Amino acid sequence: MDGNNKPVVNLISKPENMIKTIYTACRTCYSADIPINIYNSTDDEEKMLKLIERVISSGHYSTIEHIQVTFAISNVSRACTHQLVRHRHMSFSQKSQRYVKEKGQFDFIIPPTIERNPELKEKFLDFMGQISKLYCEFTEAGIPAEDARAVLPNAAASSIVASLNLREMIHLANLRLCTRAQYEIRTMIKMMCEALVAEEPWLKPYLVPKCERLGYCDEDKSCGRMPTREKQGV
Ligand SMILES: Cc1cc2nc3c(=O)[nH]c(=O)nc-3n(C[C@H](O)[C@H](O)[C@H](O)COP(=O)(O)OP(=O)(O)OC[C@H]3O[C@@H](n4cnc5c(N)ncnc54)[C@H](O)[C@@H]3O)c2cc1C
Repeated sequence: MDGNNKPVVNLISKPENMIKTIYTACRTCYSADIPINIYNSTDDEEKMLKLIERVISSGHYSTIEHIQVTFAISNVSRACTHQLVRHRHMSFSQKSQRYVKEKGQFDFIIPPTIERNPELKEKFLDFMGQISKLYCEFTEAGIPAEDARAVLPNAAASSIVASLNLREMIHLANLRLCTRAQYEIRTMIKMMCEALVAEEPWLKPYLVPKCERLGYCDEDKSCGRMPTREKQGV
């Protein structure tokens, strides 16, 4: 793999009745009526979204946990997926380095800062080649893939299916769209958000860096996009 460093991200599953489901959850909290009657009572999106926005902005997040979305992700590094799997309210199925033995040169991701430097890029490519040779030498000598993988780098490409509920999706976006997040995971999360917003445009204001929702930056090293917490007097 050389030069094609963009993650491949596809939204493969989401409920068709997302707004109606969340609306039903919200209204059930405040209504004498039973949930199924609430569900069948309206198709008025504007009305439903008005309530949903009010409920989310008051922090009543359990109502959006009913919505599960799934993404098929590939062409990302193990360094990137390692950061993703730190999110504890997500479910994952990842390409196994135990069961999938690399044959020949393994795929890898070149960080753009190295990609842009021809001299260092050449060294990087050369080193990936050396690792591949060693890996193949090990597996050909009968070392199982689960042990030979010890020499594979953080740059090794991976594939992962990731599922999460809408509450966690918003949390993930708020954290990982921040410029303090590493470029590759930031790119991948941006693509996840764009795929979801393409189908559910009402989610756009929520799938933003945390500073946009807070109105200030709470990071120690601010990028300067928003006033810091201290400047804001928070
Ligand atoms: C810019 C950036 C830099 C980072 N740098 C480092 C680093 O140097 N080293 C490092 O190890 N990690 C680092 N991380 C990872 C970070 O520490 C978190 O592990 C990761 O972002 C997951 O976030 P989370 O715990 O908020 O979210 P999730 O695991 O997605 O959980 C969501 C929320 O659920 C709640 N929750 C989940 N589990 C628990 C629990 N056990 N107890 C109480 N509440 C819980 C919390 O409110 C949490 O915010 C970094 C992350 C970012 C965004």
